[in-house]
Amino acid sequence: MRLKCERPSNLNLTSEVQADVRSLRPDEKIREVMKTGGLFFGLALVSVLIPVFHFVLVPMFLLIAVIFGIKAGKRNERLTQDVRVTCLNCASEILLKPVSFEWPLEFRCPQCAEPHRLKPF
Ligand SMILES: [Zn+2]
Repeated sequence: MRLKCERPSNLNLTSEVQADVRSLRPDEKIREVMKTGGLFFGLALVSVLIPVFHFVLVPMFLLIAVIFGIKAGKRNERLTQDVRVTCLNCASEILLKPVSFEWPLEFRCPQCAEPHRLKPF
């Protein structure tokens, strides 16, 4: 799939990237939600054991579990292989590991921290 890489701070600078992207199956989306939400739900359960702080930590982790679970549920695409992108700011190479995401795929350059985003043409 042909993708367009751009910097939100300068939309005139773009590059083209080739990547394998596929849609997540419903069972994979459920697994994403359970993995993300389940982590914070587990932290909420462990927080019950901490005296005094559990009054704050348990509701906080439950709220985070719901918010992050909803965000994970919106991811419906997945990179199937590593993707190499050239930074549009410092020209260093950025390696994107296979991840689940929603369009546009946003990431930062590890060298200069410039935000980038990938979207289909
Ligand atoms: Zn950079």
